[in-house]
Amino acid sequence: MGKFQTQIRKLGIYTSGGDAPGMNAAIRAVVRIAASKNLETVGILSGYLGMLDKQFIELSPRGMGNIIQRGGTILKTGRAPDFHKPEVRKVAAENLKQAGIDALVCIGGDGSFRGAHALWEEHRIPVIGIPGTIDNDIYGTDRTVGFDTAVNTALDAIDKIRDTADSHDRLFIVEVMGRNSGFIAAWVGLAGGAEEIFTPEVNTTVDKAVDRIREAQKRGKKSSIIITAEGQKPGRAYDLADAIRKKSGLDAKVCILGHQQRGGSPTANDRILASRMAGAAVETLLKGDCDLMVGTEGNQLVLVPLEEAISHEKKTPLDYIHLANQLAT
Ligand code: ADP
Repeated sequence: MGKFQTQIRKLGIYTSGGDAPGMNAAIRAVVRIAASKNLETVGILSGYLGMLDKQFIELSPRGMGNIIQRGGTILKTGRAPDFHKPEVRKVAAENLKQAGIDALVCIGGDGSFRGAHALWEEHRIPVIGIPGTIDNDIYGTDRTVGFDTAVNTALDAIDKIRDTADSHDRLFIVEVMGRNSGFIAAWVGLAGGAEEIFTPEVNTTVDKAVDRIREAQKRGKKSSIIITAEGQKPGRAYDLADAIRKKSGLDAKVCILGHQQRGGSPTANDRILASRMAGAAVETLLKGDCDLMVGTEGNQLVLVPLEEAISHEKKTPLDYIHLANQLAT
């Protein structure tokens, strides 16, 4: 955790990395809570790109009307690979100081938090992180803003696919997002009644999946759904379908859900989470504490050092996967 003495007059806020539903609810809440404490808020457009190009805009509490229900981010997001370089971060720090921005709220994933932590370490710019990513893959928080919406979007699609799978007695492989993380796959698999769940961390083999489907068929099951996280290579579902076909002759239909999981109106859970985290972020900065992420432990808000959040990996809940397997009888 970092401590600072300067009195904050102007907050900077930015969204960075992958967008997630609920980011707008977080922006709205930060701006309005900050205004209630007599702080101005400046929006930094497109994440670190805007910090480098001085894309700063004034945000007013009234201007935050009608965004709580919108997916995406009104501040845009972006990726700035150069931000890995200390000399580039120095330019960003100078721009922030020139614009009179005393402290930052960063809404994003672990990459964004690495940049934020570096701004505090190298330039003493106080920053608080709000975890915003559909992947729920940030250590130190049970939930990230956007995850609940993404799970529900994927689940809605799977329920529709199930109708067709059932009508045609088919095997479907549905690919959900999650490059390094199997959270969406585990949750959607359990909630959607999947037969098998493949994630980047779980060593389910095609053999095991085929055995399980064959056994289920013997018990009279006619249609099955396999969920796979995309893993390092989107399109993994096609490779799986090929492997299953070669092993067993079973013909699997593939559906890749893709970016629709990122968009859409945030669920009530995500709006509430974003609003609560935003409130805690402003309060924490006003106390002079920083270099922290606002997280949740159960239903409680917690503050976690950014360094801790970015230096550990959060593990996929394997118990969810095992339970889904047990329930797919
Ligand atoms: P996310 O925040 O969703 O994990 P990224 O990993 O793409 O998304 O990170 C978003 C941005 O954060 C990057 O484009 C880069 O500008 C910045 N960033 C990522 N990693 C670092 C790092 N190690 N040091 C400084 N900045 C970083």
